[in-house]
Amino acid sequence: MKITKQGQQIYDLILSSDGHMTAEEILIELKHQNLKIGIATIYRNLNALFTAGYINRVRHPELGYIYDKNKSDHYHFYDKKTKKIYDIDIEYQEKLDRIVEKITGGKVESHSIIFEGILNDKKNND
Ligand SMILES: [Zn+2]
Repeated sequence: MKITKQGQQIYDLILSSDGHMTAEEILIELKHQNLKIGIATIYRNLNALFTAGYINRVRHPELGYIYDKNKSDHYHFYDKKTKKIYDIDIEYQEKLDRIVEKITGGKVESHSIIFEGILNDKKNND
């Protein structure tokens, strides 16, 4: 799949961030860089980048999709105070997929977990 110039700019921005951005955050940041781009174009490019395997995305109940430069299966923590998303460094629990397959008789491809709460101030200052 061909990535457009705008797609490349969006991808570069995600790579240079801490790794987790919403489409709205990308819009704000690109406007700061004086790039003329609309939210529909951003969504279209994010979708293309995700489909082509450049980025990961996680659905958050409040923020919608979060676009993530970390493409491996991993878990997240959502700090309600700062509204920031962090990667949680614990092993992906494949056994959960097997348990759900046993229950449903279906094929689980992956799962995602977002822990929510308040981080302590020490972590927030990282
Ligand atoms: Zn992540």
